[in-house]
Amino acid sequence: MLYKNTMRRNDRTSKTLGFCRCLMLYVCTATLIVQAPSSPLERMSVETVCGMRLRPTSSDNIRMTPMGTRSFPGDTAVFIFQNNFWVNLHHFLRGEARRRSLNLPLELPLSKLSVNERAAWEAALDAYIDLAKRSLLFDAMLVRIDNILARVTDTTALKSNKIDPKIVAALDSAAPIYRAHLWDQHRRANDYWIATYGPAIRQHAVAVKKAIADAFQAIPPNGPILVDLARDTGPTLAYTTEGPAGTAGHTVLAPQKNSDPEVALDTIFHEISHTMDNQITQLIDGEAKRQGIKIPPDLWHAMTLYTTSEIVKREMGKQGDPTYRPDAARVEMFKKSGWEEILFDMEKFWRPYLEGKTSLQSALHDLIQSVAHESSNPT
Ligand SMILES: [Zn+2]
Repeated sequence: MLYKNTMRRNDRTSKTLGFCRCLMLYVCTATLIVQAPSSPLERMSVETVCGMRLRPTSSDNIRMTPMGTRSFPGDTAVFIFQNNFWVNLHHFLRGEARRRSLNLPLELPLSKLSVNERAAWEAALDAYIDLAKRSLLFDAMLVRIDNILARVTDTTALKSNKIDPKIVAALDSAAPIYRAHLWDQHRRANDYWIATYGPAIRQHAVAVKKAIADAFQAIPPNGPILVDLARDTGPTLAYTTEGPAGTAGHTVLAPQKNSDPEVALDTIFHEISHTMDNQITQLIDGEAKRQGIKIPPDLWHAMTLYTTSEIVKREMGKQGDPTYRPDAARVEMFKKSGWEEILFDMEKFWRPYLEGKTSLQSALHDLIQSVAHESSNPT
């Protein structure tokens, strides 16, 4: 299959950050190429919309509000949104270092900087050379840095002793330059997205979360998903990793890539499913094991994409609307991922379940049998 799927199996044994991980990303539209890939991981994720990594189910997460997080219109029991200076600068520096290494245009051209600014900015980019090669999703160090920065509320100086001093120094020296040239623009875009889509997210998030959990008979982890808005999320529209303590996960979402209202809601609500990835994969793998058949390692993500999109569509009252853009994007993405047959099978076996016409056990049994059969009989 075009859809690269070996990561999940491999990473289940890699145990990054304590989660057994299927780290896979990929999702959606396939039209979004925001930066050229260089590492194998990012090559695999070029045509993606959301990124995610599986995390173990945590039943003992404590509900809490991230320190210093402002209340935003989109804050709900499901999500807490924030607009964090350091998370934005970190992602932007990494992105710029990556673009520079690939000889791609920089979003902050060096020609716009004064001599002193340029020296400091280039030194910061140099410090990010290694991080620029790492995956935002799959690399334990980057996930850890992201979660630490997400808790920092002092925007004047970082002063963290939990991050490599070289990176702290880079962030501190780059901060005034970023603040002078771009932060206001990025901050306003982040705030605008939250203010624009927050009310609809607030209205529907609880119902969508429950519907996703119910569909897979999963138990959502306690705690809100911490959502950072940040312009530079690598090749994805949004991605979700393990989050800071007390959260169900940490999503980073790029507002400019989610400016379409329908895409925006489809993206953010889909990320909920990634807090239940392990339970979902266990459910699917368990049925495959019972039948003694091998399934495409990506099947679980195809199923979560299909399922969450259908749930969001239903919740938004868009069923039967031929102009609903996430539907077209999903079909296109499935095609580009080599999932046409999976899509056909889900329409045939999984949709009736989502519509309450058959049981989970029956739908899962039939779907897996059909998918496995097709996988072993390529045409
Ligand atoms: Zn996803």
